[in-house]
Amino acid sequence: VTAFDVLKIREDFPILKREVNGKPLVYLDNAATSQTPKQVIDVIVDYYSNYNANIHRGVHALSQEATDKYEQSRIKIQKHFNAAKSHEIIFTSGTTHSINIVANGFSSLLKKEDEIIVSAMEHHSNIVPWQMLCERTGAKLKVIPMSLDGELLIDEYYKLLSDKTKLVFCNHVSNALGTINPVKEIIANAHKFGAAVLIDGAQAAPHIKADVQALDADFYTVSAHKICGPTGVGILYGKEAWLNKLPPYQGGGEMIAQVTFDKTTYADLPHKFEAGTPNICGGIAMGAGLDYMNTIGFDAIAAYELELLEYATKKLLAIEGLKIYGTAKNKTAVISFNVGAIHPYDIGSILDKLGVAVRTGHHCAQPIMDFFKIPGTVRASFSFYNTMEEVDVLVEAVKKAKSMLS
Ligand code: PMP
Repeated sequence: VTAFDVLKIREDFPILKREVNGKPLVYLDNAATSQTPKQVIDVIVDYYSNYNANIHRGVHALSQEATDKYEQSRIKIQKHFNAAKSHEIIFTSGTTHSINIVANGFSSLLKKEDEIIVSAMEHHSNIVPWQMLCERTGAKLKVIPMSLDGELLIDEYYKLLSDKTKLVFCNHVSNALGTINPVKEIIANAHKFGAAVLIDGAQAAPHIKADVQALDADFYTVSAHKICGPTGVGILYGKEAWLNKLPPYQGGGEMIAQVTFDKTTYADLPHKFEAGTPNICGGIAMGAGLDYMNTIGFDAIAAYELELLEYATKKLLAIEGLKIYGTAKNKTAVISFNVGAIHPYDIGSILDKLGVAVRTGHHCAQPIMDFFKIPGTVRASFSFYNTMEEVDVLVEAVKKAKSMLS
């Protein structure tokens, strides 16, 4: 029994009341995107109802209100991740955009002899931009291998590091396996060789309150839609010195100091990386999502989700033939599994008929599926608003799918 009042929390999420295929929705696709509490929906409605305006350039009241709210949200996000300065928080369209800003920026800083290290358990968005960077610069990509439990082989990582290493990329938490990676150690060891480190925090942010200064991360990326905020917005955290060193990614309005046809100078941080009209409402709502989660508290969230994970793991493993991929000691509430030789898509389709939303497939992490020699998995990913009863519904649905498909 937990003091965590999950039923009260669920009242905040209108979508959790709906039915799917005539059954109550059991939403277990939280690693893909989280649901939105009414406190955040209210902020979005308030923005478009009361102060929708372009920011940073208007003399009129609405523009100033919108600018103030947007900049207050940036400070909220700065405080949450403990960045030293608010201009180290760049608003982006999400993790993918954030990573591409850095990958593009390093084009002019890398040479042919240089090396980049990436982990074996990355999302495609933390692989492809670096491959493109290697194509542009001739630099080489090296991969930190992992064990069958889905843990990075840190000793192998130490062997890959050298004076040639210029960049290291790793996710804080794997979206496909749930593994929490030892990012502090990864960063400290890269720094011994002067390499910069980007941590993809997309899957960590819903579960762990990261302190970018304590981690000493050079870059940290987050998507709002995984932390009770809207889609299409996120942030890139970068240390001021790195952000000053990198060239801008996109040119346009808002990111300039002075423009003539002979020469353009760029605006100071953060505006240098924020060309064009941003997702103003989204930026404000991202801060509201963090406010909501902080009201519940990240320690309480982590403790409750661990209970869900332990309960679901035990009950699922009791199903004969069910195999879980990703059994790291340190993991978030993500369970990737297959049942015998049944295709994950077939299980997912039956679960959907029973109202249970999971994701099936390679989860944008094909190299992980290749490593386990499987086409994909069924992934149930839990959030603090899920219940033990929903775990029971999942388990019964998997049993039913198994009996129908075997
Ligand atoms: N990295 C990880 C680990 C992710 O889980 C995701 C989202 N599935 C991304 C990056 C990409 O995030 P977005 O689609 O919001 O840009």
